Amino acid sequence: MITMQIDAPHAVLRRVERPIPRPRADQLLIAVTACGVCRTDLHIADGEVPANYPIVPGHEIVGHVLEIGREVEGFQIGQRVGVPWLGRTCGHCGYCLSGRENLCDAPEFTGATRDGGYATHVVADAHFCFALPDSFSDVAAAPLLCAGLIGWRALRLAGDGRRIGLVGFGAAAHIIAQVGIWQGREVYAFTREGDTQAQAFARSLGCCWAGPSSERPRQDLDAVIIFAPVGALVPAALKLVRKGGRVVCAGIHMSDIPAFAYADLWAERQILSVANLTREDGTSFFEVAAQSGLRTVTETFPLEQANIALDRLRTGALTGAAVLIPPRAETATGYHG
Ligand SMILES: [Zn+2]
Ligand SMILES: [Zn+2]
Repeated sequence: MITMQIDAPHAVLRRVERPIPRPRADQLLIAVTACGVCRTDLHIADGEVPANYPIVPGHEIVGHVLEIGREVEGFQIGQRVGVPWLGRTCGHCGYCLSGRENLCDAPEFTGATRDGGYATHVVADAHFCFALPDSFSDVAAAPLLCAGLIGWRALRLAGDGRRIGLVGFGAAAHIIAQVGIWQGREVYAFTREGDTQAQAFARSLGCCWAGPSSERPRQDLDAVIIFAPVGALVPAALKLVRKGGRVVCAGIHMSDIPAFAYADLWAERQILSVANLTREDGTSFFEVAAQSGLRTVTETFPLEQANIALDRLRTGALTGAAVLIPPRAETATGYHG
């Protein structure tokens, strides 16, 4: 099999050929047809998020089942599955037992503590694989598996408010903006300074307001979700929300948050972070994804151009989400929907 591997923090990804792994008793061997590129992959490449190097990143995996571990039930050879960031949980810690497996004390994370989907093949724990809505092609479904899922968890933690701000209009925001609008909310999109292309993209998806994060809409917002990894955006977002409003930090890594006046937090404003996902987030989100008719905007790259995809993510040059296509799928037809 072919992988794109990161040997150590700050190393570029390297093409490595390896033997195809065999699934353990509770695992599936999957032929990858598409794998989304997430900002977390960039943080792993930069050593900002812990990982077991050398590591094959990638946790927005779509593929087909090639081989089934002997204890696995409910899957068939050839079936399409999705593999998310949450690769395995312990099943018995206090968090696992209280419906918060996203906070498990001994988790495995796809593409961080175990090899992920920047590859032609991957093994994954069957209990943590998802069926995906048929209405999405493999490429279109890939960004749902983290950008969509984490966005969905963040949107639920933002509460039921009508006016939602999204700061950093990339892969996650472009999906979750459509969900928010479908739910009947007003969505306000905040982009990098001068990124009129991202602002136009946000308006084209139905956002009622789009502008740089230095500007503020006329109305106070009920909640703001921050997808950009920039700590200075947290105190700025606090100034955008009404009394009792929430600021949700949806990224796994952020630069330091500068000091701010207590008056900005006063009046029961809240700041919270979103960590990982539960399997319930997945099943509820894929239902919403199918019902809402949302579409993902993707830019595809051959697997071996993973470094180029990561560079384009880093510089903000992508519109929507980057998706890697391994060589076998690239030459097949029908995957691009
Ligand atoms: Zn646990
Ligand atoms: Zn991710």
